[in-house]
Amino acid sequence: MNILLVGVGLIGGSFSLALKHRSDLTFGGFDKSEEAQGKALELGIVSKGFASLKEGINWADIIVVSVPVKAIKELIPQILDEIHPNQIVVDFGSTKEAICTSASTHPNRGQFIAGHPIAGTEHSGPSAAFGELYREMNLILCDTNLTDSDKLKTFEVLSRDAGFSIIHMDSREHDKHLAYISHLSHITSFALSCAVLQKEKDGEVILDLAGSGFASTVRLAKSSPSMWSSIFMENKEMVLKGIEAYKEELEKLKELIEMNKEEKLEKYLERGREIRRILE
Ligand code: NAP
Repeated sequence: MNILLVGVGLIGGSFSLALKHRSDLTFGGFDKSEEAQGKALELGIVSKGFASLKEGINWADIIVVSVPVKAIKELIPQILDEIHPNQIVVDFGSTKEAICTSASTHPNRGQFIAGHPIAGTEHSGPSAAFGELYREMNLILCDTNLTDSDKLKTFEVLSRDAGFSIIHMDSREHDKHLAYISHLSHITSFALSCAVLQKEKDGEVILDLAGSGFASTVRLAKSSPSMWSSIFMENKEMVLKGIEAYKEELEKLKELIEMNKEEKLEKYLERGREIRRILE
């Protein structure tokens, strides 16, 4: 089976590396960045590089699109226009509703699978890809009632072989939950980093005084700005609700500190600490 990776970075590249044990699969790549495409060939992520998307589509049985979400939304209908009835098109973008809507009325909608791997790092590009990224991680598949059942089954088998467990979800529900659990975490990390960089101009001081708490809280701010600006804009409605909820919490904290309400402050922090029961 021939699998075309449109976008050979962390997410696309790791899918190929996770399936190295499947000798029946051949991976090819098409990436806007010539450097990334060259690196993916060098690292054995793909064994073929294509000069055009059309050429890659003609070669592939399955097309996996892992580029920024705004570009995915534009590419999916274009790819669906080009494919023959046996091909499968998948996307691995971090937002789902707008992407699903872009394909919803397409005559080839049944050949499309909207996915989101709940796995990643703050690094990007093919050099950041690794074969264990998806081991025992969840892959959310959205609006699968609109995908042909035989194609869904084929892709689910492949995904489980890559290490994923599969969860089905409505695309709007997905974006609602991810806005709070993932997108808001990145927003707070970027904002915290900006606040600190604004006040602490000396990198040496940050390095000398930063403990593991600071490092782990700002880790997400090392992520790709182009990828995350695209995610925030594509999930704008839910992300804005998340920011409002977060601002309310910051205001509560500010007031408790300002008014010297130490007992209530401690109770507030106890409530926040409840996250330990869920994530350990
Ligand atoms: P990445 O490492 O930056 O790789 C993306 C690659 O796609 C880059 O080489 C990029 O080139 C290329 N590209 C951009 N637009 C393109 C286009 N129109 N056609 C062909 N290639 C194009 O990014 P990633 O981390 O793999 O993320 C890919 C997708 O996965 C995103 O939609 C993201 O939301 C999703 N995702 C990411 C994570 C994560 O933790 N990173 C987790 C789950 C899902 P340039 O660098 O030149 O733009």
